[in-house]
Amino acid sequence: MTTIPAPDLPALLRQHGLRCTASRLSTLRLLSSSGEHLSCPDVSGELERLGLPFDQTTVYRTLEALTAAGLAHAVHGPGPKRYGISSEPHHHTVCETCGHVGDLPIEQLREVMERITELAGLHTGTAASLLLYGRCVRCTV
Ligand SMILES: [Zn+2]
Ligand SMILES: [Zn+2]
Repeated sequence: MTTIPAPDLPALLRQHGLRCTASRLSTLRLLSSSGEHLSCPDVSGELERLGLPFDQTTVYRTLEALTAAGLAHAVHGPGPKRYGISSEPHHHTVCETCGHVGDLPIEQLREVMERITELAGLHTGTAASLLLYGRCVRCTV
């Protein structure tokens, strides 16, 4: 997943109509730098480890605000929702066992998306996203 240079984050928040608060900035920075899809407990745990203790309610509201503004997106699987950064569109894999969410690059699946349009008559735009459920490598051993 792509990361966003840290100095651009306050501007990015403002562009999306969000006030630049400490929790928003820290959460966005963490999502961007981790390159992972993280749950609310993951984010609050990681922020605490970094010396930025926000309570889970604050972190949850922050993640929802970032999602509503289009800066982040939520992926539903087993367990808590996982949030990722929306800087570059991507498809998702979801592990049905542990809930891990992975990225699939859009470019490499362009033909698959065209085939889906053919088969289902569903015209997929640039924001279209596949959600593929299975078991991740860690859970198949
Ligand atoms: Zn994602
Ligand atoms: Zn797994």
